[in-house]
Amino acid sequence: MKKISIIVPCYKEEEALPYFWKETSQVAGKMSESFEDLSFEFIFVDDGSSDDTLKVLKKLAEENSSVKYISFSRNFGKEAAIYAGLQNSTGDYVAMMDADLQDPPSLLPEMYETLLQGEYDCVATRRVTRKGEPPIRSFFARQFYKLMRKISNADIVDGARDFRLMTRKMVDAILSVKEYNRFSKGIFGWVGFKTKWLEYENIERVKGETKWSFWKLLFYSIDGIVAFSTAPLAISSIAGIIFCIIAFLGIIFTIVRQLIWPGSSAFGWASTVCIILLVAGIQMFCIGILGQYLSKTYLEVKDRPIYIVREDNISEENK
Ligand code: UDP
Ligand code: MG
Repeated sequence: MKKISIIVPCYKEEEALPYFWKETSQVAGKMSESFEDLSFEFIFVDDGSSDDTLKVLKKLAEENSSVKYISFSRNFGKEAAIYAGLQNSTGDYVAMMDADLQDPPSLLPEMYETLLQGEYDCVATRRVTRKGEPPIRSFFARQFYKLMRKISNADIVDGARDFRLMTRKMVDAILSVKEYNRFSKGIFGWVGFKTKWLEYENIERVKGETKWSFWKLLFYSIDGIVAFSTAPLAISSIAGIIFCIIAFLGIIFTIVRQLIWPGSSAFGWASTVCIILLVAGIQMFCIGILGQYLSKTYLEVKDRPIYIVREDNISEENK
């Protein structure tokens, strides 16, 4: 008997969840019929929603024994929700899906079939278009992926979604990465394994609104860079060296000028101010980079739990 666990992070998804359940449970039902010995487990992680998400989940759980839910004590973020879901999953295969149907469940049979053949450990998805998204957001997202691929050793694919189906082996590898500052797209790439990519066109969410503002995404991308690359530290050191060389040349120039034309070095006030401001700015920038790494180290060292559960229907059963 094989089991697929489906992990669904939910933050204020009361409106989208009924649609999600209807479509996904239908696909699951069909799969149980077409593949022998296959069962499903749904793990919904309520990420501290302030709306009725938990109520909807409880009702689903009452009606369906395959539905499990975990509810956080506050909003810990999607990354924490994914981690909680993975930790509590018991399936031989684990899938991750958004609650807004932007990840088409109709791809699941194909994904499962691919894994059954044994050549791949993971089937992941990427969207090839970003239709329906604000153009500025798409532009920055593209730049981010370009930059990430250059400066980090985590293989991050442009447009990669979190929607994927993985084997138990890969899930255990991901769970063994216990860092607090979790950037899943990076962790998936970092653990390696053979991944097959399926492509599809962007689908707009069925109900509700996106939880990601521009600023939230910007800080998320900084998290990603700091978590998977130390290139910014090297860049700031190189900037320091370049400015030392420029300063050294300037000193030689000033001394030589003083020797050849004594007393001619009084002018140049404006240029001096410009140089001071520029160098001070670069120094602040480099200290800021240092601060980013230091703050992340600080959070890791504190070793706080990644999430706190307020309520769930798993602990009674399994533990
Ligand atoms: N989500 C979450 N915690 C958060 C923000 C989002 O669990 O703090 C969930 C959300 O419920 C959804 C998924 O993460 O299932 C993706 O969020 P969303 O659709 O808002 O992002 P987008 O698809 O616009 O990138
Ligand atoms: Mg979405």
